[in-house]
Parts: sequence; C-alpha cells; structure tokens
Amino acid sequence: MTSASPAASSDAGFSQLPLSPATLANLEQLGYLRMTPIQAACLPPALLGKDLIAQAQTGSGKTAAFALALLANLNPRRFAVQTLVLCPTRELADQVTTEIRRLARAEDNIKVVTLCGGVPLRGQLATLEHGAHIVVGTPGRIMDHLERGSLQLDALNTLVLDEADRMLDMGFFDDIVKVAKQCPKERQTLLFSATYPEGIAKLAAQFMRDPQTIAVQAQHSSAQIEQRWYEVSDKERLHVVGQLLLHFRPASTIAFCNTKAQCRDLVAVLQAQGFSALALFGELEQRERDQVLVRFANRSCSVLVATDVAARGLDIASLAAVINVDVTPDPEVHIHRIGRTGRAGESGLALNLVSMDEMGYVGRIEQLQKRESEWHPVSELVPASAEPLQPPMATLHIQGGRKEKIRPGDVLGALTADLGYTREQVGKINVNEWSTYVAVDRAIAQQVASRLATTKVKGKSVKVRVLED
Ligand code: AMP
Repeated sequence: MTSASPAASSDAGFSQLPLSPATLANLEQLGYLRMTPIQAACLPPALLGKDLIAQAQTGSGKTAAFALALLANLNPRRFAVQTLVLCPTRELADQVTTEIRRLARAEDNIKVVTLCGGVPLRGQLATLEHGAHIVVGTPGRIMDHLERGSLQLDALNTLVLDEADRMLDMGFFDDIVKVAKQCPKERQTLLFSATYPEGIAKLAAQFMRDPQTIAVQAQHSSAQIEQRWYEVSDKERLHVVGQLLLHFRPASTIAFCNTKAQCRDLVAVLQAQGFSALALFGELEQRERDQVLVRFANRSCSVLVATDVAARGLDIASLAAVINVDVTPDPEVHIHRIGRTGRAGESGLALNLVSMDEMGYVGRIEQLQKRESEWHPVSELVPASAEPLQPPMATLHIQGGRKEKIRPGDVLGALTADLGYTREQVGKINVNEWSTYVAVDRAIAQQVASRLATTKVKGKSVKVRVLED
C-alpha cells in the first residue's frame, strides 16, 4: 500500500458500524479516524451481507471498504478458504494482501495467502497445504489451482472482484466466470471497478444476487484541473490544436469536437503533422472502435479525437490533458469532458479553443462553474520541441483470440520465455473474441512482429502485424 492518504474523508466515524471493539481499536491505531466516502457508502450494506457493484478508484480507500466486510464474514477458527479476492495484477494483489493483513491484526491468526502467476507453483502448493482463510490472486493462477485441486472453495462465503474493469481489459472474463461457478451459491459478492464497460453488467447478471450499485460523486475539485482559454478564428482552430500539443506535450489527450466532420478534419491535420492521433466517432464499426480504444488505452496512440457521444462510457483512467476543440453549447457536457483529466489525485489540464461566436457558451460554463475563465494568447504557445511527442508503445495485432483459446499469459510467455523479451518491453495485452492486441515498446515493434510470426502461440503459428495510422 502506498502511504498516501485517501483523497477525502466523510464525516462518519467507523464506530457507528457493527464492528467488533477490537477492530475499532485497530482502525484507530492505524489512524483511520473517519470513513472515506466510498467506505461510508459501501460498508453499511456490505456488513448486512448485500452484493455490491461499487465504483471506486485506487486511493479512495476501496480496499478497506471490502476488507472490513470480508473480515466480518470470517470465522478464524475454521481452517478453510472463506474469502477469495480476484485482482488483475500481482502488484495489486500484493497491495490488497498487505491492507487485509493490517486490518486483520485485531483478530488472532488470520492467514492471508497471495496466489499470482509468474511465481513458481511449488511454493504456493506448500503454502496452501498449511491452510488459509483468505486467498488473494490473479484469475489465471487461481484457475490453475482449482484445476489441480490444490485450492478448494466449498467453505467460501465472500467473493471479491477488485478492479474488475482492468481484469476484463486483460481478457479474464472467462476465467472469472469459471472461478465464480466453483464458489458456493450462498455467498456475498463484492465487485469494485473504476469504470463500467459492458462486461461488468454481464458479470453481474451471471453471478450476483440483486446487487446494489454504489457510486460516489466524482469530486473533481477545480483546483485539480487547470483550465486555459484561447480565442481563435475558425480558420486557425485546427492548426492551434497542434500548437497546444507541441507546447504542453501531454502524454495522453482527448480532443473533443462537436461534429464528426470536425473529428475527421482534425485527425487528418494532426496525422499530417506527425502526431499519433486516432478518431472515435459514432459511425465506426465495433471492430474499428475496439481497435482505437485499445491503442489509446495501451499507450500506442497519444491523441484521441472524439465526439461526445462516441466518448460516452469510455473506459480510460486518467488523461494528461483534455482539449475542447469546439466549445460545447451544454455547460454540463463541458464539466463532463474536463473531468476526464486530473483524476485520482493527479493534476489535469483542460485547454479550450473559442471563436467569437462561441463566447455565449463560455458565459454559461462560467456560471455553472462559478469561476471566471483564464484567457491566454495563442502567441504564448511556443513549441517545447519541434517534434511531436511519440507514444511509448506500438500495438501488434495477432489474428486469433478467445475463440482460439488464446490467453494473455500465452502471448506473454511467447514473448518473454520463447523470444527473450523482458516484461518491461511488453505492455497491455487485450484478448478479444477473434483478435489479440499486444502493446510493445515502440522502438522494437517491427522486430517483435516478425519474430512472433516465426514462433508459436498456444502451439500454433500466428499472423501478426503492427497497427499503423
Ligand atoms: P486504497 O484506495 O484502498 O488503495 O487506499 C488508499 C490508502 O488510504 C491506503 O494507504 C489506506 O491504508 C488508506 N486508508 C484507507 N481508508 C482510510 C481511512 N478511513 N482513513 C485513513 N486512511 C485510509
């Protein structure tokens, strides 16, 4: 766990919850004096045994929100796995284990075990033989243990899915479903996710009981997002977007346009200037949309040019900058657009281009935000470097996906164990039904693609190409 304190606390203390005196004393010792908003919203229903779908980000105190509930369900005298927490990565699983152990200190001898891939099985098998109350792990490795019979879930009473959106992103949908099927039906299921892509509802429908949805008002405090306004003529507008990108060099940006036509024009201008930019608008086929989103989220494209409708429900954690290429006539939409930057305690940048005839819209936005706009002259934009910032990764497209039973681990294995690349050279791996997308270090993308095409993934030769603009 990081030592950073959560973004905000609510007014509520823990003592109003039905927790044991020992747990309350432990919380006080840990310095947890007030509940964070997500804890205040989740803990009362969770302690009543309800299933929850909660929207929460790292740093919100979400781990304690589910950990206190699962600990309340636990019988330390029963030596059997009573809780399983599924996490997308080993790093998160380690963090969750540490936090559960801290919170479990009030009780004697609660055993928490972490089971993740990339670690030899043998040690894990020995640990499991000694018994555990709580297991925290990644879906692939948990499946391995279930298949071997080294992990039994018949005494389980709480199943937690942490960062469910990230697990779906990594292609773990099927594994999660299989694991859930092996848990007793009589149980509590707690699902935490920063965003709600479609798959979340599918998971919930398959194995949750009348889940309560918890969303804590996104507090994008104005202090976290710096907004700058520039007056432009319609003729220079698209060109100024490039100037903003060269001046501020944000690592990831969404540029919002009011129309599809504007999106198309802007992408053409930016690509011609050497920016790595892709457009997202309503008419794209599902497959094209998926590709654009995967490439933006895995850091192989740095500018996403989008309409509001197309960007709805976009599942992207935090952006370095938002550019409003056109001012939106709806002030609520403006707030929504800029709220995509400056999340999770990071600072954000919102850059707005305004022509004379859009000034009226700016007035409405000022009223809603209750603050005046900070105007800057376009002449202030000096390129920090003449070269557009290139994204760190590039995306390889592999023909074949879930239908061919490809899993992220198979691709990672082919790249690291077989071809000798390091874990750091490989980024996000997305397995869809028919395709697999792998982010790799941009500098070696072509080489990785040709070498991968000569080796085997899941025992089969694969067709691979680098996705270019
Ligand atoms: P998380 O969002 O679970 O990663 O938690 C972020 C950090 O906040 C962790 O370091 C926790 O130990 C800490 N934390 C969680 N709940 C509280 C609380 N109610 N009061 C103070 N710190 C907390």
